[in-house]
Parts: sequence; structure tokens; C-alpha cells
Amino acid sequence: MTDMPLLSNLDAIDAAHHLHPFSDMKKLNAAGTRIIERAEGVHIFDNTGKRYLDAFAGLWCVNVGYGRTEIADATHQQMQELPYYNTFFGTTTPPATLLAQKIASHTGDTLNRVFFTNSGSEANDTWFRMARVYWKALGKPNKTQVIARKNAYHGSTIAGASLGGMRWMHEQGNLPIPGISHINQPYWYAEGGDLTPAEFGLKVARELDEKIEELGQDNVAAFVAEPIQGAGGVIVPPDTYWPEIARICRERNILLVCDEVICGFGRLGTWFGHQHYGVEPDLAPIAKGLSSGYLPIGGVLVSDRVADVMVEELGDFYHGFTYSGHPVCAAAALKNLRIIEEEGLVERVRDDIGPYFAEAWKSLEDHEVVGEAVSVGLMGGLQMAVDKATRRRYAKPDDVGTLVRNHCLENGLIMRATGDRMLASPAFTITHSQLDEMVETLRKGLDHLRDAVGE
Ligand code: PMP
Repeated sequence: MTDMPLLSNLDAIDAAHHLHPFSDMKKLNAAGTRIIERAEGVHIFDNTGKRYLDAFAGLWCVNVGYGRTEIADATHQQMQELPYYNTFFGTTTPPATLLAQKIASHTGDTLNRVFFTNSGSEANDTWFRMARVYWKALGKPNKTQVIARKNAYHGSTIAGASLGGMRWMHEQGNLPIPGISHINQPYWYAEGGDLTPAEFGLKVARELDEKIEELGQDNVAAFVAEPIQGAGGVIVPPDTYWPEIARICRERNILLVCDEVICGFGRLGTWFGHQHYGVEPDLAPIAKGLSSGYLPIGGVLVSDRVADVMVEELGDFYHGFTYSGHPVCAAAALKNLRIIEEEGLVERVRDDIGPYFAEAWKSLEDHEVVGEAVSVGLMGGLQMAVDKATRRRYAKPDDVGTLVRNHCLENGLIMRATGDRMLASPAFTITHSQLDEMVETLRKGLDHLRDAVGE
């Protein structure tokens, strides 16, 4: 460490001064916080020297792994040359422009422009305004309503949290804001009833059509969804879902927005999640894997359809952030993307480590407490259940996930739990043997659940 004095009482200082995101501070202060001091590859180390295998890549973001000195060097150099300049008032910086070009080289034919933000939440607030501005510029000012999904996560800002479909978030702060409604998610295991996954996928996709009908097509601006719902539990949609959603958006003339904050930059074995599902969004918020979390940066991918109107018709778009396209963050992202390209990490996820993970993860389905273990690329969701045949779930889903997660933690594995689902999203550089270790430690956590809990 550089300028930090050795602090034996960091825990107490933290309790006195630091409010953590998404935390019950009373409980956290009583339990004490984990203090992470350093990291290397797929491992993080706490202040007692304990090593953890990070199966979550930080927060779905450290896709190239920890300890990349190339990124540190690139940012160090950029800091010395130009630590900051804005991209307002007719100005840009080399890293911002080159990063936009680099991103566009991986998006296919239609998403050729990027608007930079600092985070995924801001990216969602940004496209939300863009969608409305787009329709207004086309002479359709009533097309303002946005349809999103229950149990989705799109961030913690006002629009982001409103677009998200988490009731407990809405309850804090009188959300959602007007103009946003939520339809069901394609969560077959919990909500599919007697339908086959394929039937259920179509059914929930067609809820979009019903909602558009209810609101009036001329009032609806856009539909937003994560290619695979992440924080909601890695909800992998049935194959029938996305094509039907894309068809409805096209035929109903509303914008399709894919939130690529997690899926973007290789996690599903394609550069973007929508490519995996063969659909073409009009707008796509990005963040996380753009810089592998080394510095904060996000953005919105903008299709020619929307950009042409913004460029040709709109005039000023009164929107932007002091740090939009921050040169140091952009330099970090640029180097990160070069690493992904040079090391063939997207191809590695698609052809090697993704299939290996899929098999190892799937093998957990033979465990008594596992209902399903699904994955795409390096994104996995594991459903715990009391009864496999009937898909009956535990009475207290949160307790179940916490129990398994804590057991993993004690045994040196960082996993995330959402209710009664365990989530994995390791770095693209994870080795086969590290994946085996991850799955074996999780299996022990599942044994612990089986032995500790009834129903
Ligand atoms: N969208 C999705 C799909 C996310 O998973 C997240 C963060 N987990 C966000 C948006 C918000 O990103 P941020 O935390 O960078 O604001």
C-alpha cells in the first residue's frame, strides 16, 4: 500500500464514518466489515491474509482478472499526459474518441455510436432521456412510456431504480417515477407453472404486446431488458423469448433497449449479450466489463436509427456528465478491450472455459437441494429447491441463499446469492482447476444446506 497508514482499527473507523451501498448498516457494524487489501488473478486477499477465490469478478466486472499492470501503466501514462479534460463545448480527448471507435468495432452493423457515462445507472438514465427525445424529435411527443420487467436491475439512480423491477427498491423513495410499467420476467422455474419453458417464454414475451395495447402504441417509447437478468438471479430466458420480444418491438414500432451492463464485453461468449440471442437493440447501456472495473466508466450504445435523428434533427441534447469520456477511465477501458482482443478472451469464454463451466455447473443438478443449474458463457444461476419434481422452493428463500453463501465464504469462495439462487460470474481468465475448486466448494455449501435446513 502506498499512502495508507497501517490501521488496526479500520473496522471501527468504517463503522463510524462509512455508509455502504445496499447494506443494513446496523447489522454490518455489529458484524464488522471484511477488509480487502489486495488481489491477483482471480483471488482477493483480506487484511488477515486470507485468500478467497472470487467467483463473482468483483461485482460482475473484473473480467480480465486482477493485477493487470498493463492497465495500471496505461492509466499512469494518461494521468501524466492529461489527467482530465471534458468532452463538452466542441472538445474531445484521444482516449475518449479511440474508445468509442474500439467499442463500435465490436457491436455489429447498426450500433455505431457511444455516449459516455460514469456508471451503468447513469447509462440507464441517459438512454431513458434519449428514447423520449428521439420520439419527440420525430414529432411523436406522446411516445414517452417505457416498459420494463419485474425483478430487473437497471441501477440505483431515479430512472435506473424505477426501470428496475425490485419492489423493495421502489418502496424507498416513492418509485417508480411516472411513465414506467413492469411486465413479468421469463423466470420459468419459479413462475412457469405447467407450461413448457418454450411456451412460457412466448407467454411472457407476449405480455409486452398486451402492455403496449393497454398503454396505446402511440404512447410507448421503449422496452428495456437485460439479455440475461443478472442481479435478479441469473434468469436465463427460454429460447423462444428474445425473438418474440424483438418481433413485437419491431411490429409495434417501439425502441428495444438491451441493458448490457453485465452481459456486454464477452460474458456470454459473444461481445454483447444481444448477439448471443440474435437480436438488434436500438439502445444499449454498458459499463462494468468495459473497463473490467479498473476505473468507473459506462455509456450507451446508440444505433444509427436513433443517432441519425439525434445528429440530424435534434440540435443540442442537454445531457452529459463532467466525466463523460474521462480520459484516464477511457485509457483504462481501451487497454482492457485490447487485452480482451489480444488474449482472445471472448473466444475463450465461447469455446473453452464457458463450455467447461457449463458442464461443471450442470453437474450440480445431481445434488438433492438443486432444482436447476443454468449458465451461458461464464454467467451461472443455480436454483435451490426442496422438491425437484414439483419445483417446490424453500419457504424462506433469502435464508437459504445466505446460508450457502456464508458457507462458501468461510471456505474461501466468494459467491453471490439472490434469494434462493446462487450466482457465479468469474473472470474470463479463470483456469479449469480453479473452476473445479469453485464448484466443489459450492457443492460443500449445498451439502451444508441439505444437512442444516428442513424446508
Ligand atoms: N444495469 C445492470 C444490468 C446492472 O447489473 C447494474 C449493476 N449491477 C446496473 C445497470 C447499474 O450499474 P452501476 O452500478 O454501475 O450504476
